[in-house]
Amino acid sequence: MAKKDTEIVKHYRCPICNSTHRVKLSKDMCKGRTKFPFPYVILHDSIHDNELKELLTILYIDKNLQIRHAEIQELKDDNLFSKTQVVAMTKTLFEENERLRQDVIRLTDAINKLKQK
Ligand SMILES: [Zn+2]
Repeated sequence: MAKKDTEIVKHYRCPICNSTHRVKLSKDMCKGRTKFPFPYVILHDSIHDNELKELLTILYIDKNLQIRHAEIQELKDDNLFSKTQVVAMTKTLFEENERLRQDVIRLTDAINKLKQK
């Protein structure tokens, strides 16, 4: 049950499904960030007219973990980039961003430890 406390459930309006979706956010996702709101990328499936679509969703989250804005793009096969490419690019950027964020947290901790000496 410990995991539950670290997550917070938020809702956002999706103009493509025309409904409200829920999303679980990690409570420490703001840690080490200096710029708000920050983009958080998720993919979500939508069944519309019996057709399964994958929607690339960018949530802009502020420092109170409020979703300020949701940007949703339909991944179509006739897009400039293929669905697989878009997912791969977004994932890479997202992971890179996450690595940098972890670095900032680690360095901040190290600096704080040095200051205490
Ligand atoms: Zn949706």
